Amino acid sequence: YAAKQRNDGAVIYDAAMDKSSAQSLSLLTELRNAVERNELRLHVQPKISLATGMVVGMESLVRWMHPERGNVFPDEFIPFAEQTGFIRVLTRWVMEKSAELCGELAAQGHHLKVSVNLSTRDLMDQDLPVMFADLLARHKLTPGSFCLEITESAIMDDPVRAQHTLERLSAMGLDLSIDDFGTGYSSLAYLKRLPVNELKIDKSFVLNMEKDEGDTKIVRSTIDLGHNMGLRVVAEGIESEAVWRLLAELGCDQGQGYFMSRPIPGDQMIAWLEKWQAPANLVAAAAGNEV
Ligand code: C2E
Ligand code: MG
Ligand code: MG
Ligand code: MG
Repeated sequence: YAAKQRNDGAVIYDAAMDKSSAQSLSLLTELRNAVERNELRLHVQPKISLATGMVVGMESLVRWMHPERGNVFPDEFIPFAEQTGFIRVLTRWVMEKSAELCGELAAQGHHLKVSVNLSTRDLMDQDLPVMFADLLARHKLTPGSFCLEITESAIMDDPVRAQHTLERLSAMGLDLSIDDFGTGYSSLAYLKRLPVNELKIDKSFVLNMEKDEGDTKIVRSTIDLGHNMGLRVVAEGIESEAVWRLLAELGCDQGQGYFMSRPIPGDQMIAWLEKWQAPANLVAAAAGNEV
């Protein structure tokens, strides 16, 4: 069935479009069907306090289990979803699954804040705040159990409308985070205007920071900037003990990365949480002389 749909798409559009457009089109058709075919998966990556090693949250990262292509990563299909408006459906699906998981974990005594990525289009969606209110009520979650991650570029696309949406969401009590901080075209002025709670340092600055003096300087300045503005600062892309230690020394509040855990299927999170133990040397070092 999937193959037939793809062929249909190719037959109709091949004449008019180049090969890559035809491929995009088939991907899009398939993506449209991915929800009802149950091909989307919610993965989550734990967010950890770098000083205490405690798990404080998790980020929802969507995966598409394509019947032939295998695991398709979001960088490949989110841009499509955005261009076509399918992102609305996708975002709602991710929200729903995230709320479900958050409720399940809370019932087991694990109270984690769940972070969900929003795209440019989502910020233009005037129904989003209403949708959220409904979601929280149905899952009996407090607004504080959600954090919404938005990139600088998504905000700068239409800063006025973005600010309007973000103010409504923030007024409801949801946390807002600036994702991939430092990589987009942006102005620092919005940091002062927007109701943001968190800065997320992009992994490109973090991955090799223990070896790269320039990266370390950027990370240090970003942590200071965030803290001076009263924001929580999170680093993504922590792949080694050395980077965790360095970030903790610089005062970075939280971190995510392969060193702690890759993104894992949502239904494995409870088992992961029950096994998690922060490396004692890191946590003791960060906590000072409390050992
Ligand atoms: P992001 O929000 O900045 O997410 C962080 C990305 O870094 C994730 O890639 C994550 O798997 C990866 N990562 C985490 N720790 C490490 C590490 O230690 N080393 C390395 N090399 N990578 C690490 P992923 O899952 O492929 O997602 C890519 C991007 O796709 C996300 O970047 C986000 O912008 C977007 N995305 C993912 N899920 C959604 C979604 O549900 N909705 C929207 N709108 N965008 C999404
Ligand atoms: Mg993110
Ligand atoms: Mg990011
Ligand atoms: Mg990113």
